[in-house]
Amino acid sequence: MSDGPTIFDRILDGEIPCHRLYEDDLVLAFLDVAPLSPGHALVIPKERKPFLHQLSDDSAAAIGRALPRVARAVLAATGAEHYNVLQNNGAPAHQAVFHVHFHIIPKVSEQGLGIEWNAGSLDDAETLAESIRKHLIA
Ligand code: AMP
Repeated sequence: MSDGPTIFDRILDGEIPCHRLYEDDLVLAFLDVAPLSPGHALVIPKERKPFLHQLSDDSAAAIGRALPRVARAVLAATGAEHYNVLQNNGAPAHQAVFHVHFHIIPKVSEQGLGIEWNAGSLDDAETLAESIRKHLIA
């Protein structure tokens, strides 16, 4: 991960163009340049953080408000009924652009997100749940 500006920083700075869908003080949404299906959109905070857990509460709230709005518009425009929301953190988790972004990906027959879901079993769950609870900051 380089420390320089990401491609999304350059979009936010107006250096490179995008197909803008939605914008407010804290959020920008635009079409993904390499869509998995028509209407594949990206919703990003204007706050420049690589990972979701680093976002301020204000940016997180703004993203939460924008996501359903953009999703409704994408569905209405494309006629899709189903979609995935994807948010990758870290290169091993398939993140390529190190600026927080949420994908909205319409699922239309074979087009859209393919998922391999290797489910495990829930072992010693209460110990883990207790540990996570201890790390949560109210
Ligand atoms: P991720 O693997 O979650 O980091 O996804 C990054 C996404 O950014 C990919 O789906 C790319 O197609 C998309 N992307 C990269 N550059 C641009 C760009 N200039 N405009 C729009 N989308 C882009």
